[in-house]
Amino acid sequence: MPVTCPRNAGRSRRRCSLWQQAGRAGRAGAGAAAVLVARDDPLDTYLVHHPEAVFGRPVEATVLDPDNPYVLAPHLCAAAKELPLTGADLELFGPAAAGVVAGLTDRRLLRRREAGWFWTRRERTAAAGIRGTGGPGVQIVEETTGRLLGTIDEPSAHTMVHTGAVYLHRGDTFLVTELDLADRVALVRAGDPGYTTTARQITEIDVVASLRKASWGQAALWFGDVDVTRQAVSYLRRRTATGEVIGEDRLCLPPRTLRTRAVWWAISTAQRGKLARRGIDLGGAAHAAEHAAIGLLPLFAGCDRWDIGGVSAELHSATGRLTVFVYDGHEGGAGFAERAYHTAPAWLAATRAAISSCECAHGCPSCIQSPKCGNGNEPLSKPGAIELLDSLLAGTKQDMPDKALRFH
Ligand SMILES: [Zn+2]
Ligand SMILES: [Zn+2]
Repeated sequence: MPVTCPRNAGRSRRRCSLWQQAGRAGRAGAGAAAVLVARDDPLDTYLVHHPEAVFGRPVEATVLDPDNPYVLAPHLCAAAKELPLTGADLELFGPAAAGVVAGLTDRRLLRRREAGWFWTRRERTAAAGIRGTGGPGVQIVEETTGRLLGTIDEPSAHTMVHTGAVYLHRGDTFLVTELDLADRVALVRAGDPGYTTTARQITEIDVVASLRKASWGQAALWFGDVDVTRQAVSYLRRRTATGEVIGEDRLCLPPRTLRTRAVWWAISTAQRGKLARRGIDLGGAAHAAEHAAIGLLPLFAGCDRWDIGGVSAELHSATGRLTVFVYDGHEGGAGFAERAYHTAPAWLAATRAAISSCECAHGCPSCIQSPKCGNGNEPLSKPGAIELLDSLLAGTKQDMPDKALRFH
C-alpha cells in the first residue's frame, strides 16, 4: 500500500526571503548581523551543514508555469478587472491565453465587447472560484454566536476542520462539531478538550502521461501528468501535554482528485533485490527518502513545503517497482515538479546529505519525519533511505541522455 504525505506544512525558507529578511537590518550604511535559527526540518539541517548553499549561490529563479490555465485564468480575470483585455494584451500572456479567455467567456466570467474582454462580476476576481475546482471555500462558523472565524479552502477543510477536529484560531481552541460540505460550513464550539487532532489521509497516484524520462543506470526518473486521489479516512487524538495517542476515530469524507504534475523515480528490480538482501526496510526507506526530498525541494524549486506532496510505494502499479513520487499540490501543476525533474541529481544528492548529516540515530523532524505525514510517520527507515538514495544516485554519474517522450 502506498505511503502518503500530503502537503507538508512549513514556513517558507527560500533564499530570496532569507536575504530579504536579513536585509531589513543595518540599512543606511550601518552594520548589522543576521542570525538564522535552524528549525527541526531537513532543509535547515542541510543549510547548517552546507552554508555555501546560502552564501555561494545566486537567489533561486522563480518557478511558475505560465501556460497552466489554473495559473493563467485568475491573472487574466484580475487584469480584465483593471482594464478590458485586448487582443494585444493576450499576446503578453503567452500562447495559452486565447484559449483560456474563450473558456472564461463561455463561463460568463468575462464578456466580449468591441473594446475587449470585460470582467462581469462585482466581486473580487480571486473570490469568484475561478480555479474551477477550488470553489469558494468552507466557512468556519462559531455555533453559538454565528460568528465567522474564517474561510478555508476545501481540500484543507477535509484535514483541518473535519467533524471532531480541534481547530486553533488566533491562539484560541475550538472543537469542530460538524463539517457540512454541501453547505460549505464547519461549525465550531469554543473550548479545549485537552487533546490535538491529526487527520490521516490515504493518497493514491495514477500516472496519466509520462512526458519526460531520464535513465540513471538501472534506475529511472520521470516527469509527467498524474491524478492524485486523496481521502481523509480517520483522525488521531493526542494528549496536548505529552503527544501520546489516546484514540483514533473514523471519518466519512469523499475522496478528492487533483490532476497535476509530478516527478517520480524508481529503482530496478535488481537494485531492489540487493537492498532487500541487506535487510533494508524498503517501504520505510522510500517513505523516509520521500519526506526528506519534499523538505529539500524548496531549496531548488522556490516553493514552500505547502506547495508539494508525495507518495511512496515499495511496489507501485505505475512502474511495477519501488517508486517515490513528488507532486505539485496545485491543480494543473505549478512548475515545481518540472523544476525538480531538471535539478534532480543535485536535489536528491542534497536530500541524501541532509539525512546522513543529521545527528539523530533513527530519524527525527530534522531529517525524515514530516509534521503533516498522512501515515503518522510510519514506516520510516533512516539507514534505508541513505542506501536507497545511494543506489538511485549511483547511475547519475553515468552520462545518460534525457529524452522527451512527448511535447505538447
Ligand atoms: Zn509520510
Ligand atoms: Zn534526524
